[in-house]
Amino acid sequence: MNIILFDRDLRIFDHQPIAEAAKMGEVLPLYIIEPSQWEDAAYSVRHFQFVVESLEDLSHQIEKRGGKLFFSINKMCDVFEKLMEAYESINVFIHRNSRILKKVIEWMGKNQQRLFIYGAEIDQVSARGVKKQVQSYLDEPLIQAPDEIQVPEETPSILFTDMKKIYHFHVKGQRIRFGQQGGESRAIETLESFLEERCANYIVNQHKPLPSSFSSSRLSAYISWGNISVRTILQKTSEKLQLCENDDEKLQLEAFLSKLTSMMRTVCHPPEDKQIEEVSRIKKDWNEEWFQRWIEGMTGVPVIDAAMRSLVKTGWLNYTLREMVTSFIANTLLLDGQKPSAVLAQLYLDYDPALHDFYVQQITGLRTKKVKIANPVKISKQIDPEGGFIRRYISELETIPVEYVHEPWLYPAFYQLGYPPPMIDVVKANKLARQRFDSLTKQNKPSGKNGEGETGQLSFDI
Ligand SMILES: Cc1cc2nc3c(=O)[nH]c(=O)nc-3n(C[C@H](O)[C@H](O)[C@H](O)COP(=O)(O)OP(=O)(O)OC[C@H]3O[C@@H](n4cnc5c(N)ncnc54)[C@H](O)[C@@H]3O)c2cc1C
Repeated sequence: MNIILFDRDLRIFDHQPIAEAAKMGEVLPLYIIEPSQWEDAAYSVRHFQFVVESLEDLSHQIEKRGGKLFFSINKMCDVFEKLMEAYESINVFIHRNSRILKKVIEWMGKNQQRLFIYGAEIDQVSARGVKKQVQSYLDEPLIQAPDEIQVPEETPSILFTDMKKIYHFHVKGQRIRFGQQGGESRAIETLESFLEERCANYIVNQHKPLPSSFSSSRLSAYISWGNISVRTILQKTSEKLQLCENDDEKLQLEAFLSKLTSMMRTVCHPPEDKQIEEVSRIKKDWNEEWFQRWIEGMTGVPVIDAAMRSLVKTGWLNYTLREMVTSFIANTLLLDGQKPSAVLAQLYLDYDPALHDFYVQQITGLRTKKVKIANPVKISKQIDPEGGFIRRYISELETIPVEYVHEPWLYPAFYQLGYPPPMIDVVKANKLARQRFDSLTKQNKPSGKNGEGETGQLSFDI
């Protein structure tokens, strides 16, 4: 039996495993809910909800072609054993980014069954090799979905098709209130609305908290869960670019394309033990109260609190805000970054382990000695001058005069606002952090604007 095993590739278009498996005749499209996967510290109910919405869409697409999507809530090995009992032999078709790929490779090897893995293999190649592989993947034509999907009439009882059974599967964390909904159809709509209209102010709005939520593509969650392939986005954008006669619009689309391809080239290797150890030496003792105040958006630093409250509600932040909240907890407050990183991962609907870990490591000094230490007050004045974002998410500051919105503690009637005073003096804390980070580098270079990291989008200083 030809098993198509889905994970972070919840779509039917430009999906090589489906296309290849369907050529062989009968197939069994399968999504396994492996309990241990959802117990991982980085995943939460908001991811699961997005996956369920994506599966509803995928199931509908498969049914339109005469097939069915099957589910199982079990360990992968148990499911595969039952499949072997039922069919004697199995071929598995899977994308390389599957979270259970390692386990599948191991099991298939041990049981001498045939495994077909698709997608660029970039983990073991040089930076130049990555570029070449990514390019050749992007240049290939899009893969059409099969017209017909034939599934077996008899399936082992460990599988089911009734989606209601997965709605009650328990996953930790907070449900999202105003987040994006999953599914291939939504992904395509989002791409179309971006290319037709929303991209107009992509560059100028990219750092601005509220405008960026409209002007940036908002495709990240769809990419992360595989509701759309990067190749589809890239090729549709390139087609639009070719037809485009407006130079300004071309610039917007080119900037977008460059970010999209940078994402494909991001390969995250674990940091070196020595670097982890050195950075951990300059950290303060763990402070649970600080950590909780940061999560709850009660640090007393408005832009940090607005960002964290917004993230809890929507599951998304732009790049600049992601950098800022990470830098605040790990650099300004000098707390160990591991727990904060897991909390952020749970909250970002688009959580992608490679991208998330790469940036967190970079910001917190685990990848590079050039650490950015963000001054949130200063950046807040640049990216949200009128304080619209702060007012939107911090009701306590809704009516504060604009000259105080970034530093409410200077407002004469501050204590009537019901908003906490800042938990630290950011400038002093950043100075201490800079000294400690500088002590790690041999040259002890002075801090300031030179401290920008590899992929900085804004110039931060203390
Ligand atoms: C600490 C930190 C953690 C991050 N974690 C994630 C994550 O888990 N998942 C994730 O998709 N992005 C992550 N990013 C990158 C970036 O912030 C998001 O991709 C972006 O905000 C998503 O919004 P968008 O789709 O509207 O982006 P757009 O600006 O419209 O970009 C289009 C696509 O390009 C890619 N992209 C955009 N910016 C970057 C970048 N700087 N580096 C690499 N790829 C990029 C994404 O796939 C994105 O969907 C992280 C950034 C930081 C600083």
